[in-house]
Amino acid sequence: MLIIFDLDDTLIDTTGCVTPYKLQAALAIMGAPGGAALEELKTINETSARTQDALREFAHRHHVPKELLHAALAELTAPLPPDFQVICTPNAKEILNYYKSRYSVALVTGGHPPFQREKLKKAGIEEAIFSMIAVPEDSVKKPFYKAIAAELSKDPTDVWVCGDRIPMDLLPAHELGFHTVHMRWGRGQKMGREPWVEHSITNLSELRKIVA
Ligand SMILES: [Mg+2]
Repeated sequence: MLIIFDLDDTLIDTTGCVTPYKLQAALAIMGAPGGAALEELKTINETSARTQDALREFAHRHHVPKELLHAALAELTAPLPPDFQVICTPNAKEILNYYKSRYSVALVTGGHPPFQREKLKKAGIEEAIFSMIAVPEDSVKKPFYKAIAAELSKDPTDVWVCGDRIPMDLLPAHELGFHTVHMRWGRGQKMGREPWVEHSITNLSELRKIVA
């Protein structure tokens, strides 16, 4: 058995702890700090597919100069302050520890590789837990899912993918014949149910009843 996890809003609470900090930092760069602007950006972000789309929309609305927008976008994946603590979703570490000795566990997370690894480290999740880690910058996960299953000699029916984004995390898994578990966290909370998604959870501890 192989379980492939997503990172943001699956193993770590990105929406709860990283995004608010990054939105505030990006706003300061765009010269619009303060309450009302932050509330507006948060509202835009809630309905955007990605945080960078929210920044672009905000910049468009407020005629933010291009250079400032680019600097704000760069801030999204810039290193976090040294003492910044990344919070895991409930029972994430427990579930990783539970499965690491029983099955193969892998991580496929889209984003800027150094930033993804920094969040992992700041969350206190050891990279050694995972048999394989892949960080596709364009968030196209399918080739990595396929390669990891092949590398670990797993049959598609023995592979589970758990993530919060149905189109990016689960659809490619479903197309490969893997099992799918939707983690309802962050943006994933509001996603409608797709008939082919096999399981829907709000706490990773529920996995123990599903993948056993
Ligand atoms: Mg995610």
